[in-house]
Amino acid sequence: QAKQLNTDLCVYDERLATQIIQRQYQTQRFIKAIENEKLTIQFQPQIALQTGKLVGAEVLCRWHDEELGQVPPDIFIGIAREQGLLDKLGDFVMQQSCQQIRTWQEQFGGGVSISLNLAVQQLDNPNLVEQFVKLRGDIPPQLLTLEITESDLMVDPEQATRITNDLVNAGFRLAVDDFGTGYSSLAYLQRFAIDYLKIDMSFVQDMIEDRHSQAIVSTIIAMAKNLGLRTIAEGVETEAQARILRAAGCDFAQGYYFDRPMAAAQFAAKWLAPAVV
Ligand code: C2E
Ligand code: CA
Ligand code: CA
Repeated sequence: QAKQLNTDLCVYDERLATQIIQRQYQTQRFIKAIENEKLTIQFQPQIALQTGKLVGAEVLCRWHDEELGQVPPDIFIGIAREQGLLDKLGDFVMQQSCQQIRTWQEQFGGGVSISLNLAVQQLDNPNLVEQFVKLRGDIPPQLLTLEITESDLMVDPEQATRITNDLVNAGFRLAVDDFGTGYSSLAYLQRFAIDYLKIDMSFVQDMIEDRHSQAIVSTIIAMAKNLGLRTIAEGVETEAQARILRAAGCDFAQGYYFDRPMAAAQFAAKWLAPAVV
């Protein structure tokens, strides 16, 4: 019995050791990648549900490493957090996004609205607002939305209120990401200067089979409307989901049903060029 237990422990240890080594290696490579600006960004279209037209895009960071291949954001965002690099990553993504908006402004005229993810650690940077204002330069600020998750807003609500207020006063739009998973209430969220609510994809995806999820989604949309907030449904993968959301009065949607996140050139060819013609 004891022997059996020992071998089990051994196997477990080995696996754990491999995991630790892999993580250390990923971390080393990631630090290099961010220093050498080897990260890229992709764009996922956001669609107005009533018209089916493009309203903007969410920017999602990507890391392709020569040795490790494509590393998912959930992994490298975690590494960035551990290494205190989220601030640097955030600035990089903002800088790249602004550069892309400028290019598209010249190519297609008008502006493309872009949503960027903001991590709670970035709120600790006393120069965040100043830095973002500098990076956006002459881009009309209403083209830039910052997404922060409901749970990140709740880490230190006082600090979050202060900084999101500053960002909104500087002209940025504010969206609450993954709404419905963070145990806050819409009434509580009223203290933040929010423009958009992004309904978490877990509700959207359970809607068809689970009447409760559908009820939750309709209720969120109705309450958001009453509070003057616009709603974006995330993770919309089927026509049926889009139909239910449209009927419930959801404003915008994002998900594989419309399109996946993609490189700037492809996004422009598929979504921006046809809109101009
Ligand atoms: P998120 O902000 O909730 O982003 C939405 C995620 O859902 C993205 O995953 C997107 O590719 C995925 N997605 C979009 N449509 C669908 C769909 O129809 N079905 C399913 N199953 N998934 C869909 P991704 O790109 O892997 O990013 C994961 C998370 O990593 C993001 O979640 C965000 O929290 C974080 N992240 C990505 N880029 C950045 C960044 O530049 N900065 C920060 N701070 N976080 C980022
Ligand atoms: Ca997001
Ligand atoms: Ca989300």
